[in-house]
Amino acid sequence: MLKEIYNQLNGHFIRLDPHAETWDLWIKGNKSRSETYEVAVGTILVQNTNWRNVNKVITNLKKASIFTFKKLHEIGLETLEQLVRPAGFYKQKAIYLKSLSKLFLNFSNHDKPPSRQELLECKGIGKETADSILVYCFQRPIPIVGTYTRRFLARLHGKISYLTINYEKIQQELAKHLEDDFEVLGRFHALIVCHSQNICLKNSPMCSKCFLLDRCIYGQQHKTKPNIAQIQTVIAKPQKKQTKKDLDSSF
Ligand code: SF4
Repeated sequence: MLKEIYNQLNGHFIRLDPHAETWDLWIKGNKSRSETYEVAVGTILVQNTNWRNVNKVITNLKKASIFTFKKLHEIGLETLEQLVRPAGFYKQKAIYLKSLSKLFLNFSNHDKPPSRQELLECKGIGKETADSILVYCFQRPIPIVGTYTRRFLARLHGKISYLTINYEKIQQELAKHLEDDFEVLGRFHALIVCHSQNICLKNSPMCSKCFLLDRCIYGQQHKTKPNIAQIQTVIAKPQKKQTKKDLDSSF
């Protein structure tokens, strides 16, 4: 089923997404050094912010000629903080970028990319960021699990447990159903992000307009909006006590 979902998502996005060009770069194989740099830096910058702010920082770094890991390693921390400021959490992110530059400089002396463990030991890199770097910078076929992935799967399968279960378990499930190919797995992650930011919104998913409605358990449960008469009836009645089932259906 996930393969079909992937095909459906692929048919509608990424070209419609306002950040399609960024995703094209991220998914592209055989990146140049500066492209790899931009993507690696982007994986840190995009944490807790949006693409617009990330692109402002990328522009700042380009203007300041800080576009290699060596330059990033050499620049003073306070100067870097100011360049990174538009992406928020700039003091932390400047430190994370410094740490990333050190790792990339070390590994560039060898032929192989950093291991997942080496990435995870780097400041500011959690599992999602480590896997994103391996997929988008080094074309490794690894499923990426983010907050959007969890929410999307929880709604699709009608199981709130996806919000909390172990990262690796979700990875295994994705690996079982999707091709062992960096482009497919990288694109799947990008598609879920696009879908979650444009249709399957956090607080008010647009289920009635969603092309996945027929397949989605959450969508099926919420596809009809109550009309005014129904709302008034509900308001007039005392609220029933919430059951676990009600709570489960509110994600
Ligand atoms: S039907 Fe609704 S909940 Fe399901 S994927 Fe679409 S927008 Fe999200």
